[in-house]
Amino acid sequence: MRHLALTGGIGSGKSTVATFFAERGATIIDADAISRAVMEPGQQVLAEVVETFGEHLLDEAGRLDRAALASIVFNDDAARERLNGIVHPAVRAESARLREKALAADPEHAVIIQDIPLLVETGQSDQFDGVIVVDTHHDTRLQRLVEARGMSIEDATARIAAQATDAQRREVADWLIDNSGTLADTEAQVDAVWAQLSENQ
Ligand code: ATP
Repeated sequence: MRHLALTGGIGSGKSTVATFFAERGATIIDADAISRAVMEPGQQVLAEVVETFGEHLLDEAGRLDRAALASIVFNDDAARERLNGIVHPAVRAESARLREKALAADPEHAVIIQDIPLLVETGQSDQFDGVIVVDTHHDTRLQRLVEARGMSIEDATARIAAQATDAQRREVADWLIDNSGTLADTEAQVDAVWAQLSENQ
């Protein structure tokens, strides 16, 4: 079993690379996706959030108004801690469930890749058997965030600057995947890492 972390700056292509690994048989655990899933209508976590912060967080269809929740916790540390106290245990439990499931399905060869955007910033890199860093030229990331995500160039620049630097991410990397080129170039690099992971088992 290999338990790896996948990280990279905003817009570097983490989701894209994660999908390539998933296509080759890895189990991807994406904490952001899980935290969105536990806030879907009918989920216990959403019920607790609404009980704690108020019914006004739900729109007519019973869905969470994320902007309203964000505005409550943005400037209020105690509220943010209460929210994290509800959401984080649920995300950890679901991550553990997915890990256990992958392990039970293939105890010897399971490759579990955890997608953690802020791996370096939160100091978690030592907790894994290895770290894959998606390393993409700054200007390419800017261009993709603006063109594909509709961000303003100022917002995209500020978000990149607020994160760890490329050098800091490279320092913790066991594998670097340069996603500055075509998707085919990136896929070839994923193949090379996947071959190494498969060989070392
Ligand atoms: P975020 O940090 O916002 O979660 P991310 O690191 O997961 O982003 P992706 O969503 O995979 O990045 O990629 C960002 C955007 O760039 C997407 O619209 C994606 O389709 C596009 N993209 C990713 N890789 C390439 C590539 N090699 N060539 C062209 N476009 C790409």
